[in-house]
Amino acid sequence: MRAVDLIAKKRDGLPLTAEEINWFIDEYTAGNLPDYQAAAFLMAVCIRGMAREEIVALTLAMANSGEILNLSDILGGYAVDKHSSGGVGDKTSLVVLPLVASCGVPVAKMSGRGLGFSGGTLDKLESIAGYDVNLTTERFEALAKQNGIVLSGQSAQLAPADGKLYALRDVTATVPSLPLIASSIMSKKIAAGANGIVLDVKMGEGAFMTNLEDARQLARMMVDIGVDAGRDMIAVISDMNQPLGEAVGNALEVTEAIETLNGHGPADFREHCLDIAGHMLRLAGQGEKWTDAKAVRELLVSKLDGGEALTKFRLLVEAQGGDVSMVDDPNKLPQPRFVERVNADQAGFVSRISALEVAIAAFELGAGREKKSDSIDPAVGVKVHVKVNDSIEPGTKVATIYANDATKIASSRDHIRKAIRFSDTAVEPLPLFYDVIYGN
Ligand code: URA
Repeated sequence: MRAVDLIAKKRDGLPLTAEEINWFIDEYTAGNLPDYQAAAFLMAVCIRGMAREEIVALTLAMANSGEILNLSDILGGYAVDKHSSGGVGDKTSLVVLPLVASCGVPVAKMSGRGLGFSGGTLDKLESIAGYDVNLTTERFEALAKQNGIVLSGQSAQLAPADGKLYALRDVTATVPSLPLIASSIMSKKIAAGANGIVLDVKMGEGAFMTNLEDARQLARMMVDIGVDAGRDMIAVISDMNQPLGEAVGNALEVTEAIETLNGHGPADFREHCLDIAGHMLRLAGQGEKWTDAKAVRELLVSKLDGGEALTKFRLLVEAQGGDVSMVDDPNKLPQPRFVERVNADQAGFVSRISALEVAIAAFELGAGREKKSDSIDPAVGVKVHVKVNDSIEPGTKVATIYANDATKIASSRDHIRKAIRFSDTAVEPLPLFYDVIYGN
């Protein structure tokens, strides 16, 4: 086979066979094809798209480029995983994984770091002193077996072809292609080895997908890939037109997750977690157990409010070398030097909260990174205390800024002011979820 022929075929809108796609990915990963041919291939896919069979072949080729875990062998039963396409204030994994584990369903998850305006679970966990995200495969498996919960960084051996292609996409304007996004995400999920996968596709201004139609298409595509690869799949489309919960920033989000694990926390975030965890239990029940939605919810609420999910979180932190006293007293987590409130200067209803502007406000304080090599400040960020359609008076505290550098506060405040808009009349509150897409 010749790379140039496959590129030409895709350029002309002709479908590639699984054999051709496998060959291309294998050769590129092995270093036998230059970046310029891979870049041309990616651009052709970007413009011409791919059929379902091609997307599945691409996903499996990338998954097979590295090690494939078999979680059900490791855990000795059905293994369930979750993935979020990334949002502002999305600390869901910190609550949902211990919650699901506390119901007797083991979870062993590999997570990523934040990039741009989207946060990452690993960065959040690292605000707990000592928490080790760099586990060897042996340690990952041992902790999964021993505790029924483990949460670490993604092994470099997992879908290395995706890592190489993603870096190339980043600099060749080929990131925003649904087949490339879907195959990239799913290659890592399939290699991570769960039987059932719940996908949380975020839709809105603070997400990859900014409209419902694209979000539905991406969700459907990923569900189809998972089904064709023999996995049980559920995708939800959730709102990212306002931040999830209140906190945006690493230690702030860990604190909010711990509050939620203590039976408190912002109502929207708690509901979001109960819903995602419910879908994970439904998959793990394999259509036999946990079919009654009301009973599932009652079980999850009892684990959250009864402290069992928190106990699992403590176990997770302790097992990975983290300082558990920070879980017991989140005031011990990194704290900022400056805390400033942002007040409303008018009465009215909150008509809009731009998740993107809120993310920029936190990013500018040092909560996020622009390049992979940048460091982040765990203590800083913002909290937004209102939701769309809340009624407020002049002087109501709408947000709080947590900063370590006083010179960055004014700009962060400007972004928050830009983010929150008011109207004289009530508006429709935003839903938490727009849709659920089932695999079979
Ligand atoms: N996340 C991924 O892992 N890959 C993409 O292409 C986009 C988001």
